[in-house]
Formats: sequence, C-alpha cells, structure tokens
Amino acid sequence: MQNSKNTVQTYTLAKLQMYDECPQKYKLCYIDKVHIVENLSKLSASETGNTLHNLINFYLQGMDISKLIASLSKNEKLLWNNFINSEIKNLKYIASEYTFNLKIDEYWLTGRIDALMQNGENYVILDWKTGEKFTPENVKFQTTFYLFCMYEILKAKNYIKKPEQLSLHYINLSAGSSVKILFDENLYIQYKNQILDLINKINNNPNYFCNKTDNCKYCKYYRACPYY
Ligand code: SF4
Repeated sequence: MQNSKNTVQTYTLAKLQMYDECPQKYKLCYIDKVHIVENLSKLSASETGNTLHNLINFYLQGMDISKLIASLSKNEKLLWNNFINSEIKNLKYIASEYTFNLKIDEYWLTGRIDALMQNGENYVILDWKTGEKFTPENVKFQTTFYLFCMYEILKAKNYIKKPEQLSLHYINLSAGSSVKILFDENLYIQYKNQILDLINKINNNPNYFCNKTDNCKYCKYYRACPYY
C-alpha cells in the first residue's frame, strides 16, 4: 500500500516490532485480524506482569500501596523485593508509564516507557521485565525504538544535548539483575534508519514473506500460519 501524502500514518512499537520479527505474523495479526486465544500459563504470566507494572507505577507516583503489597502472591512479592532493591533508589524520578508521540518525517511513532529517571545530567529509561525468558537479544527492536524516540523527545525539550546522555536499563525482576544499554551518535543514525526502513517495507511490501525460524514454535499464530 502506497503512503498517501495527505495521510499521517501512526506506528506503534508493537506493530513495528511484529513486522521486524516476521512480516507474515504482522499480516496475520494486523491485516487478516486473526484472533488467537492465549493459553492459561501465558495469561497468568501477563497478569503477574500487569500487577507488578501497576504497583511500581503507583509507588513511583507516591501513592500508598501498603494494602496492595499485602495482597501479593509469593512470586509477586519476590519480584517486588527485587524492584525495591534495584538501582532505582539511586535515581531521581521524572515520569512513569509515560506515553509518547513523535513525528519522524511524515510518520508518527507512538509508545510508552515504564519509567524515566534522571542521574545528574543523564537520563535513564527503565523497563521492568517479569518473564523468566528475558534476554536483551529478544527485545532488540524495543531498545532501538525507545532510545531513538526518547532521545528525540528529550533533545527537543532541551533536557539533553547528545545521545550519550541517554541509556536504557532493563530491570529483570525475576533474576534480580539489570542490563544497561548505552547509546551514541552512530547508534542514533543506525536506529533512525532501521525504523524508517521498516516503515518503508510495511508500506511497500505486499508479499509479507515469512521469517521461518526456530522461534516459530513459540509463535502464537503458528496454527494459522500458511507456511506450516
Ligand atoms: S509461525 Fe513463524 S513464519 Fe509463521 S507467522 Fe509465526 S513467526 Fe512467522
């Protein structure tokens, strides 16, 4: 589909990430609108993730969460304790569950980060991970998207002047560890090109070729995929 000059198209992280992972998956989800019911273990994992994200957001906003903490399950309490003992205590709170919209060329990019913190003259995007299978490798596009967008936004607000002042930290609440991703000018250019290239492929590639990989067995569209 060709992009009309008069239409401003919006791209969410989820949409771009899915196309990056597999164009066929993107087609099944966004074009064919195939609805897949998740299995119970996945639903329960996502419920735990939502509980922790909400709790952390309320805590960072200074709300009284004592009753909520008392009602946590054993596993949720473990995740919560790992959050409290993480590096957040050394950082200054700026915002949480921050939704952003950024115009790049004729497109809008939209997303939401878990939290933004300040460390002296530097800013840190924080992202909580509650799943046991987290690795920086499987969130590579999220890293690209968050660092590029938040850098553009913070630079426009005059908060930062160079990419090195921004970093992204994944806080792995299951393992009680964190992964710090640094940013620089070369990555900024690389990430911008990567995002624009992806948008260009979505607009100009009607074939939606498949990316058959070992990960297909974990794909929720596996049963609906014409390649299997
Ligand atoms: S099963 Fe594999 S090829 Fe098919 S949509 Fe999923 S990731 Fe893509």
